[in-house]
Amino acid sequence: LEEARDSREPVIRRVGADPGALDRVSLARDLRSAIGNGELFLHYQPKAHVRRQEITSVEALVRWQHPTRGLVLPGDFIQLAEESRDIVDLTIWTIQQAIRDQRILATRGHDVTMFVNVSGLLLSDARFVRRACALVENSGAKIGFEITETAVIRDPESAIGHLHTFAAIGIVIAIDDYGAGLSSLAYLKQLPARELKIDKLFVTQLTSSNRDPLIVRSTIDLAHALEMEVVAEGVETASALALLSVMGCDVVQGYFISRPIALSALIEFMDQYRVKGPERPPLIPGLTS
Ligand code: C2E
Ligand code: MG
Ligand code: MG
Ligand code: MG
Repeated sequence: LEEARDSREPVIRRVGADPGALDRVSLARDLRSAIGNGELFLHYQPKAHVRRQEITSVEALVRWQHPTRGLVLPGDFIQLAEESRDIVDLTIWTIQQAIRDQRILATRGHDVTMFVNVSGLLLSDARFVRRACALVENSGAKIGFEITETAVIRDPESAIGHLHTFAAIGIVIAIDDYGAGLSSLAYLKQLPARELKIDKLFVTQLTSSNRDPLIVRSTIDLAHALEMEVVAEGVETASALALLSVMGCDVVQGYFISRPIALSALIEFMDQYRVKGPERPPLIPGLTS
């Protein structure tokens, strides 16, 4: 029956959010060759500045077109990559692609900062830090790192030192998924971070929950007190956007503005907003500048 289906139809099937033990072993094995085989690709999701009504940056999100499983999302393989250390090659590859595509965007008139997700685990890897710095420094591209706390940072002192190394060569540092993990206020004030990203956990239910608006508002105030910009991820509705705007959130990102999309689609999306004036569609629907 499977074979009787139109074979030209692309297989877009997700593996379960919690692949079984055997599945994990085979996925981890396949991942090793995925980079070399060209099975990984990036989608880009714009980050929109609320007051400026402008796309000021873009986040690169990795996807895996697996030869038999179909599309596999990072939630199903990043942790495996961390466990096997393939995360090093994966992230180096992602930075290279992000640099290339940032340059392409810049030549099209969209010189936005391109953010790459960097696992906190890599912050204690001095060799990774040197390779990443060399790539970014030689490229002249505007690059940012979103630091994701997927693993407990074992050596905070070296991690903080390496973040300062990145910042010193102009890499913009964002703290990702703030509030969801073990994010510690003690470290937050020592980090050279310019952006704090509030986890979508607090944003997707923003207007239907009693507590989330309080948490989000106090996080915005905290970040501003630390002179950081606040990004809300997971903005799915006009009402969430309106509330975030009133609360003084600086940057919004989510399906309401755009899903993560291929580079060509991103360029089309951004071209629409190049024209200023009345013919320009509102960047953030429902918000007037
Ligand atoms: P993240 O960096 O916090 O990225 C946000 C995730 O939320 C993305 O999932 C994105 O597609 C999704 N998202 C965006 N807007 C909305 C929205 O309005 N509503 C909802 N419900 N979700 C939204 P994705 O692409 O599956 O990535 C999941 C996580 O995997 C990322 O979370 C990041 O931690 C990690 N990741 C992705 N790419 C990489 C990478 O190249 N390296 C590393 N180390 N981690 C990566
Ligand atoms: Mg991120
Ligand atoms: Mg995030
Ligand atoms: Mg997240």
